[in-house]
Amino acid sequence: MNQTSMVRTEKYAVAFPRRGSILDANELNAVCDLLADNAPLSAGEWRDRFEEKFRQHIGSRYALSVTSGTTALEIGIRLLDLRPGDEVIATCQTFQASIQPLLDLGVRVRFCDIDAETANIDPDAIAGLITPDTKALILVHYGGNPADMDQICTIAHQHGLLVLEDCAHAIGASYRGRKPGSLGDIGCFSFHSSKNITTLGEGGMITFDRDEWAERADRIRSNEVDAVLGPPGSALGLPPSALPWMKFADGAYRHSYTQILGSGTNAVLCEPACVAGIVQLDKLDGFVARRRMIAARLDEVLAAHPELVRLPAVDPRDEHAYHLYTFFVRTGEEARYRLIRALDEQGVEVQLRYFPLHLTPEWQSRGHRPGECPVAERLWFSEHMNLPCHPSLSDEQVELMCAALENSLNHLR
Ligand SMILES: *Cc1c(COP(=O)(O)O)cnc(C)c1O
Repeated sequence: MNQTSMVRTEKYAVAFPRRGSILDANELNAVCDLLADNAPLSAGEWRDRFEEKFRQHIGSRYALSVTSGTTALEIGIRLLDLRPGDEVIATCQTFQASIQPLLDLGVRVRFCDIDAETANIDPDAIAGLITPDTKALILVHYGGNPADMDQICTIAHQHGLLVLEDCAHAIGASYRGRKPGSLGDIGCFSFHSSKNITTLGEGGMITFDRDEWAERADRIRSNEVDAVLGPPGSALGLPPSALPWMKFADGAYRHSYTQILGSGTNAVLCEPACVAGIVQLDKLDGFVARRRMIAARLDEVLAAHPELVRLPAVDPRDEHAYHLYTFFVRTGEEARYRLIRALDEQGVEVQLRYFPLHLTPEWQSRGHRPGECPVAERLWFSEHMNLPCHPSLSDEQVELMCAALENSLNHLR
């Protein structure tokens, strides 16, 4: 951590978290037991156990752990098999890692505007962006509030698009009783220190149902090439030595004809991280319950000022994971600045997330411009607010934040 961010964090009585979850003797003991044992520290039984537990939690057929949410997205995007000239529709309101791998693929991104009620991708805006070249759709469940996956998946299936869900905020959420990460074709999770659960600071998971992706994703994450495997040489009536042979995930060498799609990497999540992940997953419901309690208190304060602010819509059938607590200022850019300053002076940190991606230099240099996603731009530049909401906040801190908010809103009138 550099000095400025340290000074900044200490200035606040109620700050954004360095840790989005709580670690205690349970994680410590689990890691100690692992270290005392002579078991391998990578690719061992704890990885299998963590993946099995996660898979069951999400309700997906496969769950593969990796070293970060960014790596999960890199591998997830590779599974989409995009080629230069293909198009991808992506929400503009997310963290850059959601679509960063597309920068190098020669793929055209069509940024989709967001729904002003939720900051999630606007399902009604998707159809107008589809062309014969569109291959996939990438979305985030913004802040942990599930996107409208029924409508999104219906459109996607009609047009043969693959759907990748960035679930970095959505662990602990549910959509119509099902878990994000089991709704589209691929789910990508992050266990970074700031997220709803963590695998000791960094980690991620990829979820999907397709059998043909399981071996491929496993090869990519453990330094083997990303390849399409053809039939064994003997099945073609050829002498085996006439064809290349390669090592499979199970360790065996088989003759096969391969088409190499890309290189592998090392993205194996180490055993101590997996052990901690198992303990954290057991605590997830408690963490999210605490986030919901804090969100309900903030909602209560804000709901008393409907002329100044509005709350995002949460479908009553769904469960919000409140990775981020978001609301919107109704009375313009200046009022929002005043509100941020007033909260800051009272020791409440505001960190706005995220700058619309189509306006970042890397995407502007690829032809994207202001005006492309007017709703996202309006929200970002004059309405959007995020407040701290995480389980390590004490009741006193929550009440301090509510009092500061009430006080600041009264001054906005
Ligand atoms: C945190 C985050 C990521 C990246 O995850 P890391 O584990 O930090 O690499 C990707 N997308 C979103 C929306 C995130 O919030």
